[in-house]
Amino acid sequence: MSGVRRCAALDCLNTAENSDYSLFRFPLDIERAKIWIKACNREDLLPKIQNLHNTSYRVCGEHFSQKMFANKSRTRLRKNVNPDIFLSLGRPSTVEVSLQTDEPRQKPYSCDGAGR
Ligand SMILES: [Zn+2]
Repeated sequence: MSGVRRCAALDCLNTAENSDYSLFRFPLDIERAKIWIKACNREDLLPKIQNLHNTSYRVCGEHFSQKMFANKSRTRLRKNVNPDIFLSLGRPSTVEVSLQTDEPRQKPYSCDGAGR
């Protein structure tokens, strides 16, 4: 693996280089680290949880709402916050999505079988 830091969240491709988001270490606290792991859908990291804070795994700022940040430029998290935004992960289970009613229901065909 190269030195590029990538977000640990499943399906998230943000890195320190391709996005403006900062990447955050997992918390030292095991219980909270667990919450992060679940939120990221990375249960494969559970065996490493004792040391996760010291690994290169990071979670990018995209998964934190504004109120989680200690500053406006979103480079620092407040204490004891957990990631709460996982919209792009294609997993509707954690986040309720109810915005999908906008599909236009028109079909391109308008000839409705003149002759049977
Ligand atoms: Zn991410």
